[in-house]
Amino acid sequence: QQTLLEVKELKQYFPIKGGIFGRTVNHVKAVDDISFTVNEGETVSIVGESGCGKSTTGRAILRLDNPYSGSVNFQGEDLLSLSTSQMRKKRKDMQIIFQDPYASLNPRQTVSQILEETMKIQNVVPKNQRRDKVRELLETVGIGEHQLDRYPHEFSGGQRQRIGIARALSVNPKLIVCDEAVSALDVSIQAQVLNLLKELQRKFKLTYLFISHDLGVVRHISDRIIVMYLGKIVEVADKKSLFNEPKHPYTQALLSAIPSTNIKQKKERILLKGDVPSPIDPPQGCRFHTRCPYAYERCRQEEPKLQSVSKSGYQEVACHLMDEQKAN
Ligand code: SF4
Ligand code: MG
Repeated sequence: QQTLLEVKELKQYFPIKGGIFGRTVNHVKAVDDISFTVNEGETVSIVGESGCGKSTTGRAILRLDNPYSGSVNFQGEDLLSLSTSQMRKKRKDMQIIFQDPYASLNPRQTVSQILEETMKIQNVVPKNQRRDKVRELLETVGIGEHQLDRYPHEFSGGQRQRIGIARALSVNPKLIVCDEAVSALDVSIQAQVLNLLKELQRKFKLTYLFISHDLGVVRHISDRIIVMYLGKIVEVADKKSLFNEPKHPYTQALLSAIPSTNIKQKKERILLKGDVPSPIDPPQGCRFHTRCPYAYERCRQEEPKLQSVSKSGYQEVACHLMDEQKAN
């Protein structure tokens, strides 16, 4: 399997200015040293509660915000070394879809104009072929020809997300970052859009980085899942390992919160105490220790590193308990 995206030691710190000179007095450590890869044709999800750094990671990869440090390698090229104009061209290969497509669709342009403009900017389709391409793309995402000259407000939320997807596809990307792409939709519409994304993946050989707070959604679409907590990766696993045998106490707590219809799988809800600590001054040692039901002395001192724990599948966990279990 070919690696499409390789993120190494990525940090995204946002400065906090203070004092009369407006100096940087501190940083919000939104993403704090994470590494992972995404293979061609794969769907890798990043899950975690709001503020864990998942959206920040997506934005840093596309350089919508320039990362603080680390490296992002895409198709063998170091994105952080590209100039702004080189990066703009690169975005042809890496698109992003947001939760609210309405915010990014110009209300004064028809759907056809919106898509044609994107093609024009990225110079992917000759002018005289754009209208046909728009028709074809919209049909692919389930929007009929008679709707081409309508305005965004004339569509439902689900349809607008389909238009957002069509726009992303219009430049023939390799990677699409989906940031809470179905979170604003009703459950039944969510399922339709997720199925559409899967179908498009097969058809256009797309790779997805799927960012979501919702493990139920992630379950439908992912090959592998990254769980983040307070700017760190706490667990990465293939879908089966993660859902059948979550190893990190935080993953276990997240999973216990999904309503399960399967009685056999019904687990006791694990309620975490307290709130997520501030990313300005995160806890020493394991960042989860202030809320972890299993925390012990070592957790307050030493930061756990991601280590492989699976014999059959693929699973890496950052928790000291893994050492204890190995020892036993
Ligand atoms: Fe809990 Fe300690 Fe594991 Fe962190 S390292 S998740 S505090 S047991
Ligand atoms: Mg977010």
